[in-house]
Amino acid sequence: MFCPFCQTEDTKVLDSRLLAEGNEVRRRRKCEACQKRFTTYEKVEVSMPLVVKRDGRTEDYRADKLRAGIDVACKKLAVKTEQIDRVVGNIEKAIMDISDKEVTSSDIGKLVMMYLRHLDPVAYVRFAAVYYREFKDVDQFLNRLKEEEKHFKSQPTKDVTVEYQT
Ligand SMILES: [Zn+2]
Repeated sequence: MFCPFCQTEDTKVLDSRLLAEGNEVRRRRKCEACQKRFTTYEKVEVSMPLVVKRDGRTEDYRADKLRAGIDVACKKLAVKTEQIDRVVGNIEKAIMDISDKEVTSSDIGKLVMMYLRHLDPVAYVRFAAVYYREFKDVDQFLNRLKEEEKHFKSQPTKDVTVEYQT
């Protein structure tokens, strides 16, 4: 860490303190050359993989985009904001389990469907309709819906841990 006053590289840490529930560190530093003191902050930053779109282009992962898609699917349903928060958190963890470098938009779509399926069947169908329209695969969508109907009849809705396989 260079001294901001004289640019000397030789600075000494006087004190380190954890802030904000332990994910931020504040350090008091002193420059050995000019003796001036300054403070630095280190913050944990989770790095999400790049998203590879269907046309092969990549874009930065955006939590707000994921959230917007789920919000639309859950519109006017009895789904609480905290439930959506949890789903977004779980999907992000699952994305990072796939890769910390690149993940496809189709993988993200599948994860969203897996979680919505257990959150609310209507939200799931809405999201799936948009997803499969994008993929232009109506037959696959209809077959999937048939499978889901069987699934809902045979199994009670519950929280699940998704094990993603590539
Ligand atoms: Zn200095």
